[in-house]
This record gives sequence, C-alpha cells and structure tokens, in this order.
Amino acid sequence: MITQQTIDRVFEVAQVEEVIGEFVQLKKSGSSFKGLSPFTDERTPSFMVSPVKQIWKDFSTGKGGNAISFLMEHEHYTYPEAIRWLAKKYNIEIEETEQSDEQKEQMNERESMFLVSKFAKDYFHDLLMNSQNGRAIGLSYFKERGFREDIIEKFDLGYCKDEWDNFTKAALAKGYDLKYLKSTGLTIVKEGGAQDRKFDRFKGRVMFPIHSMSGRILGFGGRILTNDKKAAKYLNSPESEIYHKSKILYGLYHAKKEIAKQDNCFLVEGYTDVISFYQSGVENVVASSGTALTPDQIRLVNRLTKNITVLFDGDAAGIRASLRGIDLILEQGMNVKVVSFPEGEDPDSFAKAHSTAELKSYLEEKSQDFIEFKVSLLMEEAKNDPVKKAGLIRDIVTSISKIPDGIQREVYVQECARIMDISERVLFSELAQLINKGASKNSTQSTQRASEKTKMELVKGKASGKGAQKIDQLTILEKEIIRILLLYGNEVIDFINWVDVVDKHGRPMLEKEEYQNSVSNELYLNLQEDEIEFSNELFRLTYYELVHQLNQKEKIVIDQLIMHENTNISSLVTNILMDEEKYTLSSWERKEVFVTETAKILPKLVTDAILNLRRVLIEKKIEGILQDIQEKQAVPDLEEISNYTELKKLLFEKLNRVV
Ligand code: ATP
Ligand code: MN
Repeated sequence: MITQQTIDRVFEVAQVEEVIGEFVQLKKSGSSFKGLSPFTDERTPSFMVSPVKQIWKDFSTGKGGNAISFLMEHEHYTYPEAIRWLAKKYNIEIEETEQSDEQKEQMNERESMFLVSKFAKDYFHDLLMNSQNGRAIGLSYFKERGFREDIIEKFDLGYCKDEWDNFTKAALAKGYDLKYLKSTGLTIVKEGGAQDRKFDRFKGRVMFPIHSMSGRILGFGGRILTNDKKAAKYLNSPESEIYHKSKILYGLYHAKKEIAKQDNCFLVEGYTDVISFYQSGVENVVASSGTALTPDQIRLVNRLTKNITVLFDGDAAGIRASLRGIDLILEQGMNVKVVSFPEGEDPDSFAKAHSTAELKSYLEEKSQDFIEFKVSLLMEEAKNDPVKKAGLIRDIVTSISKIPDGIQREVYVQECARIMDISERVLFSELAQLINKGASKNSTQSTQRASEKTKMELVKGKASGKGAQKIDQLTILEKEIIRILLLYGNEVIDFINWVDVVDKHGRPMLEKEEYQNSVSNELYLNLQEDEIEFSNELFRLTYYELVHQLNQKEKIVIDQLIMHENTNISSLVTNILMDEEKYTLSSWERKEVFVTETAKILPKLVTDAILNLRRVLIEKKIEGILQDIQEKQAVPDLEEISNYTELKKLLFEKLNRVV
C-alpha cells in the first residue's frame, strides 16, 4: 500500500489545472479555467477547473472532482494508479507501507512477474524491428498481413527466435530469475537427465503482448509462422498470478478512451481483428481471445459504456455457438447489438479489403439489435416447423428474461411478437412463467432483488402521492445539511434556542435561550440527540466522514473529502462546492451581497434545517401509524398519535419563531 504521507505529498504538489491541462485545452476565465468537456463532443465549453479549490466540474455530464478523480474518469485508472501517475509527473518518491511477509512475497512475486513480462515484450519487439532474422521473418510476416509500422509499434508486436532457448538465455543473462520465467510461462522447464532443460514457450512465433487496462504486460499470444498442422496456430500464456484469461480483454488498453467517447464497444474474436480495425480507424474494439465473454470481461467494458456490438464471422455455426454467451451480456444490463460479416469474411479480412469509410458505414448499416437478430436468424430455420418454432419462442423469451429492466423487456416482447407473428399474450405468459420460476427457485440474486423492488413499488403505488414526495423532501433536507456543513461548518455564530418548558398552568411553552456554537457542532449535537440516521446512503457516508473529522480535529477539513478514496463522496463534495462557486463567481457584486446575506441568515439556515428534518420525520412517523391502522387493523395507540401531533405543533411554532 502507498503510505498516507505519499498520498498527502501528491495532493500537496499536484495542481489540478496542470494535470487536466495535459488532456484538455484550458483557457483562463476569471479566477478559474474553462474548456471543452473531454467526456462529450460539445462545442461550447462547459468544463470548469478551479485552481483555488483544486477541483473540476463538467457541467455537461455532471461529473466532477479533484485531480485524482479526473485521472480515474478520463484515463480509467484505479485510485493507486492515479496516485502513481501523479507521483511520476511531479517526481515524488513513492513510499509503501510495511506489509506482512506473506503479502510482501506475493507482491514481490507479482511485481517480478510484471518485470520479466515487460522485459520479454521489449526483447521480442527489439528482435522484430532491429535484428536481421526478426525483420526477415517476423516483420515481413506482419507487413504481408498489411500491418503498418506505426501500428506494429503501437501494439508492441514482437518476434521470438526459432531457437530452443534464445529468449530464456537472454533473460537469465540480464539477471531475471528462472522462477519468474517459469511462473509467467515464458520458459518451459523439462526436468530429468543430468540437468533441467529450458525452452522458450513461444519459439519461432510472432508475438502479441497483452496489456492490462493501465498498460502493464500481463501475458502474450504467439502465432506460428509455419504450416505445421500439428502445432497450434495460436499459443497463449498459461494462467498465472498475473494472467487470468477470463478477466482480460485484448486491446482494452488502446481502446478504452475511444470506447468511452463513442459510448460503444466492438467485440471481435482475436488479436488480428483488433489490430486491423484499429488500423482502419475503428479504435473502440476489443477481443475476448477465442472464448465466450465472461462476466468479469463484461464488467471491464461496463465501466466505460453500456453498449456492446458483437461482430460475427460469416459462418452460421460460429454464430449459433455465440448466441448463448450473449445472454450473459444482457444479464449485466448492457445493450447488445450485432453485426455479421458476409460468408467467409471475418472482421480482419473485411477491414483489409475495404476503406475506412466503407468499414464504418458497413458497421453502422448492418448493426442490428441482438434479440431481433436472434429472432430473425432462428425464424429462418423454424419457418415451417411448428415444433421448432415452439422451442424458438422459449429460447427467445429466455434471452428477454435476462434483461434487468422491465420496460425494456416489454418493448422486446412487442417487437418479437411482430417478427414471429404470434400474439404478445403468448410471449408475456411464457415470460411471466420464466421469471416466476427464477424467483421461486431463488436462483439468481438479481431476479430476487428485482421482485423485491416490484413489491416495494407496489407498496409505494398504494400510498398516496404524498408518500413519494416525503422521500424527496427528506433527501433534499439531508443534502441541505451536508451543504451547510461543507460551506459553513467551521463558523462560530450566535444561536437562539427555544426550550420546552411548562408554564404555571402546566401547559407546555417555549422559552428563549441564546448561546454561541460552531455550525458543525450545533448540527451534530441536534442530530445526535434525535438519533437521526440519514436515509440516503451517500449522504449518510459523507456525514459519517464529517463527524469523524469533528471528533478527531474538532473542525471540518474539506480537502480530505475532496481527495476521499470513495469517489462518490469526493464528487458529491466537489459538486456542492462547484455549484456554489458558479453562483458566486458570476458577479463580484453579487458575491459581496451573497456573503453578507448568508452570514446574516446563517443561524436561521441551520436551525431551519434541523427543525424541518424533524418535522418531516415526525410526519412520516404519524403517516406510518395511520397506515398500520388501516392495513393491519392494528389497535390505534391514541396517546402515541397525540404525542406526535403535539410535537409537530411545537416544531411549527419554533420554525415560525426563529427569525
Ligand atoms: P489466418 O491467416 O489463417 O486467417 P489468423 O491469424 O487470421 O489466421 P484466424 O484463424 O483467422 O487467425 O483466427 C481469427 C482470430 O482469432 C485471430 O484474430 C486470432 O488472433 C484469434 N485466435 C485464433 N485462435 C486463437 C487462440 N487459440 N487464442 C487466442 N486467439 C485466437
Ligand atoms: Mn484470419
């Protein structure tokens, strides 16, 4: 783990405008910077960076945060990766915390495997480009395939000599440990005889290094150059600490930016398809390397876009085999489209044989919704066979039942009914059966959750429209409290309290009391007194963080929240700050007015927030009791109701008096 000191140091030195300036052209505008949103294709700038607050906000997408979260959004780094990037940019040495011996060993193991893989990539690439043997055999093969030199460089393609242990010897001579050559699979060790014998796994193959999302080398694919029918055409690294086939998508490192920008990801079969597409200017392309897509791979794409377009070769058998895998993608709530290529063509050969414009327009024109595609394809086979057609209906409905979104499911049912020329009712009842079966078998968590959600919605639907409003009111009030804490939490001001006392006739009344307190303390004590829990999870988490700070440092430290590891928290905080900034920046005069006015009304702002929150909570409580009486025919506890009503009355009095 990177130490907190290093993280603090990075935050101290990193300037958000410098970091973002590397990716977005920024122009000074008042005390902040403006630019075109890097997340959309907008023409008028709505992207703002505040050097004073060290935060950014993209008003066209609503995203915002600090330097770290920008790198996470824009470059799709993880938190530690972003810290490392910044440390490198600002020449900060990274300190790591002490780890247990076991952790250290595992870490070292993985690190060493990464190191030797990087060495291998460089070695193979150097051979390809700079050795006579590599150029004559490897490079000329790639050139023959039509790969341009800049693309060969970009994808770090390489060549492993056709000798038994040329690479292994070079690696050992450079001081790399045989242990890691073995565990990465680069070297195969045959035991026995007087001495163990070592072989290069990829002997005589051209090399495709496989990058992680952040560009580290995880493993390799190697293609044979001879026509030897006994040897496999493609050979891949074996499963290891760093190479998990099911969690890797080839090309993702090079494609990620374009996937996010185009909001779509093309999925092809292998290395050569990815590279050919990329060379033709279609850069949002990845490959699952020969296997059906796994949930882990889908999740990798899901971080970047909700849209996948699966590309099929022209042979029918291949298409049929892939259909089932696609249900998995639907299950993850992604939108799936398909494009199939003419008989005998695959994405690689098609891209080769056509111009960029032709390729792009083919992809656009032939792209078809997956379920519609599946229906048409299977209908073709089942046209005159009622038994087959019945099976087909079940098959299609199974696909539809995987879609988590109910409205989308309904649209598909209508569409499929039209294509298959059967009534929607048949499809709906089949669908209902399937979903019920899923729920009662308790098979998948998501269906169960979905059915719980439906129940919730039914309950909500029954309650009056007022009920739903109340939920919103609560969220708004909770957000208001967070906003006040962030903007004014550390200010100490005069408060007036109205204390509940009893007058001489024994009736409750209010007595005025004045005192000084910090805004944060006042809010905290009041909320604690009522044991109020925030209903919104993000606000609750943020509030806990704030309380934690108050307990530790007796004040609120905004910077720590802006750089919070939980990006939801940091982006909530930046959004609140930036909205404020936008408002106050718009005119200097208004700022003056705003500042004095806020100071004047601050005590009321704070007390109103607390009282309103209490009021809504009490109203909800009363409503809940009334609903219980109605629904369960519970015996009404009149005293309880009148107590709450009394409380509510008191609250209204207080709300009106505090001026
Ligand atoms: P050819 O020149 O004979 O067409 P190719 O190198 O284009 O050979 P194909 O057999 O056409 O390979 O395979 C299509 C795609 O599938 C290629 O992009 C390749 O990278 C990928 N592929 C094939 N076999 C494997 C494998 N075992 N592991 C990973 N990817 C594979
Ligand atoms: Mn091919």
